[in-house]
Amino acid sequence: MAHLHFRCRSCGQLSRVPADKRNAGAKCGRCKTALDVSGAPQVVDDAQLSRLVDKSPVPVLVDFYADWCGPCRTLSPVLANLGAERAGELIVVKVDTESDQSWARRVGVRGIPAVHLFSGGRAIASETGARPLGFWRDWLRRSGH
Ligand SMILES: [Zn+2]
Repeated sequence: MAHLHFRCRSCGQLSRVPADKRNAGAKCGRCKTALDVSGAPQVVDDAQLSRLVDKSPVPVLVDFYADWCGPCRTLSPVLANLGAERAGELIVVKVDTESDQSWARRVGVRGIPAVHLFSGGRAIASETGARPLGFWRDWLRRSGH
């Protein structure tokens, strides 16, 4: 049976949910908070991103952004749509590059918005700019996801 994977908003734990039980009120295995199964992007800090990249059985898409960045605000709802479309198969998160810079430095972010894709603990693709939803769908497909 296919499984979906969700990150707990409250404690960051990843939970595996059978695809047919997605809307059955799944709870976090650790803290028992109701899981957000919408696929809505969650803001994570550098330490939380490290754990996520390390542990996630599904690809992690990271939006490196800043509040002052206009194109970032344009891209944000586009990636929210992508997250909703691929809820449970892809985890979309956001890193505020004003407060958290170590991952941005590590993967070589120069301009924002920058989108990086991680799979199996490794960075596998990156792209920049406020591009439309169709672009990101193709980009994921080209990356094998
Ligand atoms: Zn939890």
